Amino acid sequence: MLDDRALTGVVIDAGHGGSDPGASGNGIVEKDLTLLISKYMYDRLRELGIPVKMTRTTDETIDSTTRSERIRDAYGAGDKVIVVSNHINAGGGDGAEVIYALRNNSKFSNTILEELEAAGQNVRKNYQQRLPSNPSKDYYFIHRNTPNTEAVIVEYGFLDSNKDDVNELKNNYKDYAEAVVRAITKYKNLPYTAPIEGDFYTVQKGDSLWSIATKYGITVDELKKLNNLTSNVLKVGQTLKVKSTTEKDVGDYLVYTVKSGDSLYSIARKYNTTVDIIKSINNLTSDKLTINEQLLLPKGEDIDIEIEEDTKGITYIVKPGDTLYKIATSYGISVDRLKSVNNLKSDTLSVGEELLIPVSDITVEEKDDNTGSNISYVVVSGDNLYSIANKYGVSVDDIKKANNLTSNVLQIGQVLIIPGTETYATYTVKEGDTLYKIANKYGVSVTDLMTINNLTGSFLSVGEELLIPTK
Ligand SMILES: [Zn+2]
Repeated sequence: MLDDRALTGVVIDAGHGGSDPGASGNGIVEKDLTLLISKYMYDRLRELGIPVKMTRTTDETIDSTTRSERIRDAYGAGDKVIVVSNHINAGGGDGAEVIYALRNNSKFSNTILEELEAAGQNVRKNYQQRLPSNPSKDYYFIHRNTPNTEAVIVEYGFLDSNKDDVNELKNNYKDYAEAVVRAITKYKNLPYTAPIEGDFYTVQKGDSLWSIATKYGITVDELKKLNNLTSNVLKVGQTLKVKSTTEKDVGDYLVYTVKSGDSLYSIARKYNTTVDIIKSINNLTSDKLTINEQLLLPKGEDIDIEIEEDTKGITYIVKPGDTLYKIATSYGISVDRLKSVNNLKSDTLSVGEELLIPVSDITVEEKDDNTGSNISYVVVSGDNLYSIANKYGVSVDDIKKANNLTSNVLQIGQVLIIPGTETYATYTVKEGDTLYKIANKYGVSVTDLMTINNLTGSFLSVGEELLIPTK
């Protein structure tokens, strides 16, 4: 007898996409969140060694015919193929739902709901839906056009819920995606291991521990330790944990060690910040990175300024390329004073290290000029565009625009115009931006953003300018 639980492969379908945003509200756009959930599931299933494909990996418009075709083409039309179509619900309810095909029983969707419940989401129901014009057929094309697969639509929660779904969807979507991954392994009786934090690398033909370690700027010993390896033998397809030493937590910032394949853009995306902010924090004048170079990255969206005043002085966080001499000079104090205040025995600094700058040695100037609503600001030691922008609640781009700046380099004593009292800031759409991302970043709702900018759809073009409410 054939094992009825055998699995040919899993097709992950990120619902909607491109010109079809699906539902939206409360800062959530369905097509964006379903893509995040789907990518998470894809990565995890791969990690677990389960064959998996996606219907889309970008913000792509796919009509229902093409979507069905991609599903059927992925692993064929067999009943050992699982299809998970990810969606976010709207309509004011609260909790998760699973819709399964008329040809299937409820076993798999029950397992999904059990796992979602275990992950903290309340569940509503699972059900089948019939086409009114032909009740022998499924209502949803994802079931109707994909025989004989085991196809389910998973609705993770309601983005217009007046209970806890909105926060849960924003904060816990990875847990819910993991729940579905777990459900697949349970249902198909496959081994499951919980996710480990970090980056992973799949061993390719020709790889060695040494070649992989070098690629990520770590030692062979570190790589073996990360993976609890006792021998040097690798298998093609084996998943190795390769990160942990690339990231170090230093209070308000992370110190990130650049690895092969990184770009400012990829790092910015990964850490939920922007290329401008990274360049500004690290005083970078070009976009070039070198492997093993260290960068300071903001830990969250809410970091105000890199300089904090306290009674004794200012805390300065050591940046790449800093030396005691450079820091001392920029604050107009001596290296000896800097060393004595900080009890430094040597001249060696590490990126992310905090230094105390005695406050009595610094003068801060800030004055209003009387030309309209703008403020002029005199740059002092330790300022950067990001810290100044944050201080005044404007964007780095606004300051650059107001001052016709073409680079991020500031001179001490330079007078900057701060476009202070505008109600709106202008944001220029960058590659990879979505309304959801921009809205989240600035703490406004997608709906507000669309209203203010008279947008009728969620399509953005790179370079397009958006008004962002600053108050
Ligand atoms: Zn949907």
